[in-house]
Amino acid sequence: MLTAIVGINWGDEGKGRMVDLLSKEYDIVARYQGGNNAGHTVINHLGKFILNLLPSGILRPEVVNIMGNGMVIDLEHLSGEMDRLRQAGVQISPENLKISNRAVICLPYHVMQDCLEEERLKDAKYGSTRRGIAPVYGDKYLKKAIRMGDLFNPQALRQRLTGIVEWKNLTLQQVYNAEPVTVDAIYDWLMKFGEPILPYITDVGVYLNDALRQGKKMMFEAQLGALRDIDFGIYPYTSSSSTIAAYAPIGAGIPGRKLDHTIGIMKAYSTCVGEGPFTVEMFGEEAEALRAAGGEYGAATGRPRRVGPFDVVASRYGVQVQGADCLALTKMDILSYLDRIPVCTAYDVNGTIVHDFPYGDDLNNAKPVITYLDGWKCDITKCRKPEDLPQAAVDYIRYIEQQVGCPIKYVSVGAEREDYVVMK
Ligand code: GDP
Repeated sequence: MLTAIVGINWGDEGKGRMVDLLSKEYDIVARYQGGNNAGHTVINHLGKFILNLLPSGILRPEVVNIMGNGMVIDLEHLSGEMDRLRQAGVQISPENLKISNRAVICLPYHVMQDCLEEERLKDAKYGSTRRGIAPVYGDKYLKKAIRMGDLFNPQALRQRLTGIVEWKNLTLQQVYNAEPVTVDAIYDWLMKFGEPILPYITDVGVYLNDALRQGKKMMFEAQLGALRDIDFGIYPYTSSSSTIAAYAPIGAGIPGRKLDHTIGIMKAYSTCVGEGPFTVEMFGEEAEALRAAGGEYGAATGRPRRVGPFDVVASRYGVQVQGADCLALTKMDILSYLDRIPVCTAYDVNGTIVHDFPYGDDLNNAKPVITYLDGWKCDITKCRKPEDLPQAAVDYIRYIEQQVGCPIKYVSVGAEREDYVVMK
């Protein structure tokens, strides 16, 4: 069985927490896109973990974790992340972590280029996480990337790197007026952080096809959400990878396989990190209160997130793009402080009411049409069954479910592993 767990919104929906919860039913968890530009927060009996690169299944010893070919991997960051987890008592070995030989390495000059470009753009910046993600995906498609499997042949790697560094320095020096990088420095970095992980690098497609033939269950863990997808998101304020479920088998290394299920993770209100149109954005005290209640500060960067009410238009679009067959609604407990809960049901685009997610200028000009639902004004973090939830909370769930056109199966009412309700 193949299941994808994907974000319906702008990312930070609580995917890490849901993967951690649901992964107990799976043998394999695979990341299929992105790099260390996002953080998945998981809280369980071992403690609180922020995972940037490692799949969330790493916290369950019996799960095999895959880092797929669709990922871009900063070796230094990976090494630090593995060390941190090990210090906290997490077992990591080539038995429970397999890294695709086709995954692309995010190099120090990609991080440099990312920062230089954001600085060049000044006020027009994209709001990049400055982790090198856009430059490294750019190089992948320009066919100037170094891949994990290249680490097995240092001589050939050095030769190829020499040509690439010469090319990269043209950009660094002549576009950005920056210091050039040297082949020696990049090569040494690759050897220092690459050698220790050689035992983990393999053709994961061979492993996965074998495992699936044996009837193993596999889960794909997405990073970011539908509205950050390179094709279907709010371009150019997207990530540089495909965040959608349809890409999961490709980015994990089994392109010929089809998904059986797609679980969409959707937040009970909206948050957005970075620049670009965010129709439902709230400001002032109202925004501060929601941000504080939800602890809405980036897991990878610490940046305060932009916040707003639940956005039906964007979420319905997210559900469609992901092809979700059921949803998990997260952070319901955060809304408990509100007397009445705002929900954006449509957009007003220059006087026309629209229900389909708009493109370009229409999106830039969209104003939210807000409706209010009753709040429940009580602690719901101890609710474990649908009957435990106050009626107003059930009404909120049912309303959203009907508006986005997909059943809500799970409702998350707290950050801990067991804080959730399975809806009937
Ligand atoms: P991800 O990138 O989609 O995994 O999301 P983040 O890790 O950036 O954000 C989710 C944050 O919310 C983490 O700090 C989680 O521990 C926390 N969280 C997830 N679900 C819930 C929930 O239902 N209630 C509360 N209070 N916190 C939650």
